[in-house]
Amino acid sequence: MTKYIAAIDQGTTSTRCMVFDHDGAVVSVAQMEHEQIFPKAGWVEHNPTEVWDNTRKVCAEALAKKDLQASDFAAVGITNQRETAVVWDKTTGEPVYNAIVWQDTRTDKICAELEALGGGADRYKEKVGLPLATYFSGPKVRWILDNVEGAREKAEAGDLLFGNMDTWVLWNMTGGTDGGIHVTDVTNASRTLLMDLATLSWDESIAADMKIPLSMLPEIKSSSEVYGEVRPRGVLSGVPIAGILGDQQAATFGQVCFEPGTAKNTYGTGNFLLLNTGEEKVLSKNGLLTTVCYKIGDNKPIYALEGSIAVTGSLVQWLRDNLGLIKDAPEIEDLAKGVEDNGDVYIVPAFSGLFAPHWRSDARGAIVGLTRFVNKGHIARAALEAVAFQSKEVVDAMNADSGVDLTELKVDGGMVVNDTLMQFQADLLNVPVIRPQINETTALGAAYAAGLAVGFWKDEDELRKQWAEDKRWDPQMDDADRDRLYAKWNKAVKRTLDWTT
Ligand code: ADP
Repeated sequence: MTKYIAAIDQGTTSTRCMVFDHDGAVVSVAQMEHEQIFPKAGWVEHNPTEVWDNTRKVCAEALAKKDLQASDFAAVGITNQRETAVVWDKTTGEPVYNAIVWQDTRTDKICAELEALGGGADRYKEKVGLPLATYFSGPKVRWILDNVEGAREKAEAGDLLFGNMDTWVLWNMTGGTDGGIHVTDVTNASRTLLMDLATLSWDESIAADMKIPLSMLPEIKSSSEVYGEVRPRGVLSGVPIAGILGDQQAATFGQVCFEPGTAKNTYGTGNFLLLNTGEEKVLSKNGLLTTVCYKIGDNKPIYALEGSIAVTGSLVQWLRDNLGLIKDAPEIEDLAKGVEDNGDVYIVPAFSGLFAPHWRSDARGAIVGLTRFVNKGHIARAALEAVAFQSKEVVDAMNADSGVDLTELKVDGGMVVNDTLMQFQADLLNVPVIRPQINETTALGAAYAAGLAVGFWKDEDELRKQWAEDKRWDPQMDDADRDRLYAKWNKAVKRTLDWTT
């Protein structure tokens, strides 16, 4: 009897394997962090070999913890940090360079060159739903081909493969140099700047502009179908791999946002708010992205509007690791609670420039409003508030684009255990903020996609019934206070612009 679905969540800071039962409950979990490599200011890399080793280890550990065998599993789903780009040699299986992470800003010159071809930052937007920005994969691949010795010749000879982390994990899991399959799903492909959102295929003219040979690109498939089996050796061997969703789309799926108009906000390394727009591909006029939300087998694709914020939870990490202000992430709340308010301090964490709705790669972070009065508590509070202010910017953009105001916000991710932050978020948005019982929505979404493909779950209705509320924060702030704080935030944002120009 197959009782479980395994989900591999290859995230920015760690890789997890989670085992879910038919009720969507977590049966087992194993997790390993990987090294964050910062070779220069603005550069962020991961070692793909370390990530793949960790993936194998967490799968083995999650199964061993509950004494599970491959035969207990109906399917495996994969979810992943999106946009992070890996290029590897298909005959040796070796990456030609470290993975260039989504937060990395080294491709700003490449993006500027592409803008100069005509049409500015929105040159490809109508086709791919995205502005030209360092965030996305295409320019990262171009950088590797331009800067790694011999890479371009090899790529042109058809010897190199590109993949986001989903593809890198899938290729290795299905055999690597021994028959590994080179496939991605529509949600990951929609983050490369290379996929036409209407046809769901690679756009040859954009690939030509970026000088990326088409032979490097994986085949694009749906988010829920059997792509292949885990290779016949080791853990999970023979289990079908049947779901792939980029992490934010997976969280949207795990929050069962299946109807147009439903939305979720994930508070992790960064924040990502996605609104399901159904079969309609809505182009944003307010700095949001248009992206594929999911595609189940042969069904039509479902699209989403997305507001991506680069730095939220990673600001807390920075206060811990770079400034030593706190020893661990939860301590930020203790510090923040020790003060009455932010003491008029604002932190704008534009470490990777500003993403939605600004898209300013020339911005850099700032702490403003400092006086001798300010203490650690104010800084901690300003850091938490920065997460909520950035989310408000995105919600305002979403309301303007869709013409309908959000009435409540479903939340998930590592930061939603923080009551102070969640209350401030509800206050600032003036709508209730709601946390589901299963907070592991990213892994759950990938499990759902895989389980649907193999008939482990019957349909979306069955999944919808599994969602249950855990906690709700209702707004309590006066309009005047909200307006005053938000006006100050907007002033602080202006101070970060034009820093690198
Ligand atoms: P990801 O999946 O992006 O790696 P997670 O969803 O696991 O991230 O969330 C981890 C993030 O949440 C980290 O950046 C961490 O700093 C932050 N975090 C964890 N616990 C807390 C807390 N109690 N208060 C504030 N931030 C927290």
